[in-house]
Amino acid sequence: MVDRTPLREADPEVFSIIQQETERQEYGLEMIPSENFVSEAILEACGSVLTNKYAEGLPGKRYYGGCEVVDKVEELAIDRAKKIFGAEYVNVQVHSGATANQAVFESFLTPGDTIMGLKLDHGGHLTHGLKVNFSGKHFNVVAYGVDKESHRIDYDEVLSLAKQHKPKLIISGASAYSRKIDFKKFQDIADEVGARHMADIAHYAGLVATGDYPSPLPFTDYVTTTTHKTLRGPRSGMIMAKPEYAKDVNRSVFPGLQGGPHMHTIAGKAVAFGEVLRPRFKEYSKKVIANAQAFSEALIKEGLSVITGGTDSHVLLVDVRPADITGKLASELLDQIGITANMNTIPYDPEPPRVCSGVRFGTPALTTRGMGVAEMGTIASFVRQTLEARDDENKLESLKSDVKELSKKFPLYSHRLVKE
Ligand SMILES: *Cc1c(COP(=O)(O)O)cnc(C)c1O
Repeated sequence: MVDRTPLREADPEVFSIIQQETERQEYGLEMIPSENFVSEAILEACGSVLTNKYAEGLPGKRYYGGCEVVDKVEELAIDRAKKIFGAEYVNVQVHSGATANQAVFESFLTPGDTIMGLKLDHGGHLTHGLKVNFSGKHFNVVAYGVDKESHRIDYDEVLSLAKQHKPKLIISGASAYSRKIDFKKFQDIADEVGARHMADIAHYAGLVATGDYPSPLPFTDYVTTTTHKTLRGPRSGMIMAKPEYAKDVNRSVFPGLQGGPHMHTIAGKAVAFGEVLRPRFKEYSKKVIANAQAFSEALIKEGLSVITGGTDSHVLLVDVRPADITGKLASELLDQIGITANMNTIPYDPEPPRVCSGVRFGTPALTTRGMGVAEMGTIASFVRQTLEARDDENKLESLKSDVKELSKKFPLYSHRLVKE
């Protein structure tokens, strides 16, 4: 319980907003697959005096004085990341997943070059070639999709497109693809056509760390990731690459794209990587997947349809058309009762992207707060009841209190809430 804090004294307005958000996280069910909850230790590191320090350059080679202490934390983060992923080269300075990708592009591509990535509406990410993103504006994008029947990546299509268009870069990885990706096959295709391969494991990194999802290391040219999704660290990014690309990637991050690295976030990443290296994280990762699979099976029992019939990871894409509803309305109703997920296109979606036929769910955050397979069944039933109760405000109110009751059984940051 927080009574007096420096922020509360100095700026009650911002303090109150943070309280409201703490409450929202505490009493809702967070099922956005790209979100997670960091530990108190990580919060402390990210809120530390390291935010004050300028440290342009790399450890031991900075453009500012007084970096001898922060050097140690960056080296620690790098060493731990190398250990987790078996990487030979790591850059922990990139501010986010999008910047990590941009830094790789900028390290060897020139505008107009051809790149290949998974279509956004088939599960790809905007930095993999969307028209309104830098990746789609500056480069000639050839997008591959998933198979119309199986909804899985069609490697023969990837190969034939690659042969036809001779891209300089092939991107693997996705934001809404629940099945295992064959990163080795992508690298082989890239090698065959003389392209480089970047595996963007932003979503899967935590599961890759424990061996529960295939690793693209050590054979992939570049591996990028966020650190805040399944990896459960602070909001940030990271690049791994073959050592021969190290110099160009470093220069692309700084001075190419960024100024000073955020040393407080790098400290947070070091703490997160320390957590990943402990045995408990291995258990966590297995539970995340078991929960996603249990949730998927439960939703199917409740009459909904899951793309590819299930999941190999933390994420699942639900086709809500069997409930005679759009993705947009479904996600709005769920939000109303305190289940946070997001509308998402399904492959070959008949609806436009702003309406969609799908909802994307994930289990990393709920698993962090200790929920298990039993709770997944309960939540799947909440989901079905919510979609059915679309015009019944009383029923929705009662579901909302059910959600709150369930969340109260799994305290998260309740000690941070001020009791009025
Ligand atoms: C989330 C995500 C990113 C971007 O991460 P930000 O930190 O939001 O910039 C990049 N690639 C993929 C595949 C993602 O899912």
